[in-house]
Amino acid sequence: MTPVTTPAFTAPGSVLTVMAHPDDAELWAGGTLALCGAAGAAVTIAVPRHPEPRAAEAAAGAAVLGAGLYQLEQPTTAAPRELLLETQPEVVITHPLRDVHADHRRIAEVLLNALPEVVITTGHPRRVYTADTYNGLTLDGTIPAHTVVDISSTWTTKQRALAAHASQPQGLGRPPRAARPRPWGRGQHGAARGLRPRRIRVMAGSPNSKSDRVTPEHLGHDWPAHGGNPFDADLPWAGRLYWARAKPSRVFPPDREPAGDELYAAIPMGYTTLATLERLALFHRGRRLAAWEQGPPSSNVQLAGLQQYQVLLPPDDEGRYQLVGVNWPERFAVGAAEQLSGRVDGPVLLCRVVDHCGWH
Ligand SMILES: [Zn+2]
Repeated sequence: MTPVTTPAFTAPGSVLTVMAHPDDAELWAGGTLALCGAAGAAVTIAVPRHPEPRAAEAAAGAAVLGAGLYQLEQPTTAAPRELLLETQPEVVITHPLRDVHADHRRIAEVLLNALPEVVITTGHPRRVYTADTYNGLTLDGTIPAHTVVDISSTWTTKQRALAAHASQPQGLGRPPRAARPRPWGRGQHGAARGLRPRRIRVMAGSPNSKSDRVTPEHLGHDWPAHGGNPFDADLPWAGRLYWARAKPSRVFPPDREPAGDELYAAIPMGYTTLATLERLALFHRGRRLAAWEQGPPSSNVQLAGLQQYQVLLPPDDEGRYQLVGVNWPERFAVGAAEQLSGRVDGPVLLCRVVDHCGWH
């Protein structure tokens, strides 16, 4: 396996995001904007004005990113045109034109309409990028991530900027609203034990490529030990799956925490990532077949900040499983899994990442 590498990031002189909602710039490009700002670029965020408290939150989020903020009163073509003429950004980032969210599509189209005349007049922007979106999926399918920016160094800044949007579902290290039963009993999550968690690398674009696969003999057959298939809707408990990036992984029974050594022994050497997944729901052809109680958030503080969801797709023709990243908050993840299940043969499993660590 070739480890994923990203080329060194060269910040443009100036960057403008034009997005639909007050927290979109933070959510879809916040790490990149912070990187640009740190490199001395002029960073501007434009968003249609929303009623309070969201307008104030937009200002607070932009301040964290060191960005100037324009709240557009009328998101018509005239507004981005004026803004483009005024700021003359080198780079513009907006939503995918075929984003799954209608608001995102509308503002991206408004921006696009404004571009030709402005580019002819000013020669700017030199490049226009679209950002990632929910589940890395557009109406036309998976986002091809042509450009990936490593935002490890600005990840915490991005988190702080998102936290400024206090009225929005946070899902950032906050426990579920009500304490829920833990079907597998007490104890810490095994994956953290004996392993040194590393900073999670979060990328713009779609980080979960088709190479995120695992061979079938390690998933779906012995889960838990002699307990059936994780895609079986009749299995009554949530249980956990251990998923190693692009490597075979081993599945442990739910009634026993694997020791650190055991976990190490189960994972092949090499640059890899191990995720502990908890089953949340099973979907088939757009219908929910089963759901399970959600466990407590991760005991690993650094990772608890993610509250990340993944969808496990059924095996392909070659018998390989694929993991698709899904965005928080949970209601978005549920909707995504439901939609996704309408497009693939066989059931899909919505999982929560309870822990996640990488090493080499
Ligand atoms: Zn949005």
